[in-house]
Amino acid sequence: MDLKLEGKRAIVCASSKGLGKACATSLAREGAHVLMNGRTESTLEEAADEVRKTARGQVDAICCDVTTEEGRARLLQAFLHPDILVNNAGGPPAGDFREWSLNEWQAALNANMLTPIELIRASVDGMCERGFGRIVNITSSAVKAPISTLGLSNGARAGLTGFVAGVARQIADKGVTINGILPGAFETDRMRSNIEHVAKKTGTSFEKEYETRKARIPAKRYGDPEEFGELCAFLCSAQAGYITGQNIVIDGGNYPGTL
Ligand code: NAP
Repeated sequence: MDLKLEGKRAIVCASSKGLGKACATSLAREGAHVLMNGRTESTLEEAADEVRKTARGQVDAICCDVTTEEGRARLLQAFLHPDILVNNAGGPPAGDFREWSLNEWQAALNANMLTPIELIRASVDGMCERGFGRIVNITSSAVKAPISTLGLSNGARAGLTGFVAGVARQIADKGVTINGILPGAFETDRMRSNIEHVAKKTGTSFEKEYETRKARIPAKRYGDPEEFGELCAFLCSAQAGYITGQNIVIDGGNYPGTL
């Protein structure tokens, strides 16, 4: 299927590794002009080179912290009129809610709620004027089924999801969609650090915790980031124009609900 992404300008935040990188890879392979981002120059450059190997569109990269005003301004200056915005940032740390002060909450809200809201605010009117826009927020399956050790993530992402539910409908007649993708467990550094945290806390080994979690997933495996990137590219496609305000879980069947 031709997703009709050729020449579309896509900002993919936090994309030097993991799920963001997979989104950048799929979008670039479909012919989009992709702007990648991350805070570590060497990792970002390496990732951009890798993405270029299969890209049909141009791939640029800007090293900055997307959770800062300055970082966001740099991305928006480079891509003044993005057609596609993939919001992403590192997830907040796991832990016990009793240990989190206002500082930790403010950092989580800034990274996983206010940063995407700011980028949506800056880019959505231009998309509406041009009659095409696709915004994808990478959130978490924790939006549907909270994970007790990830309270900061549960809270911040629920806030973003609530905000987007309203805005998506406000602009649905302008050719602009906003959707969330809710990953379950995917093979990335972030997932491994979460497993490490739990293993340490419960006095078990990383390998044991890794296998125990895997066995609980109905698909009996972790997600491959490429599967995530492909879903993102589809949501950004011309064909997905009638999908908006949705929160799509991609988790190997782990979420147990009927709907
Ligand atoms: P990852 O493998 O750790 O990759 C995170 C990427 O984001 C890296 O490229 C990192 O590069 C970049 N990054 C982090 N903070 C940034 C910032 N402030 N500004 C710019 N770039 C930044 O993580 P992932 O697994 O892909 O996770 C992506 C998101 O999905 C996270 O919010 C995570 O909580 C969520 N999630 C993941 C899973 C999973 O199973 N993987 C499940 C549920 C939710 P630098 O560190 O160099 O900046």
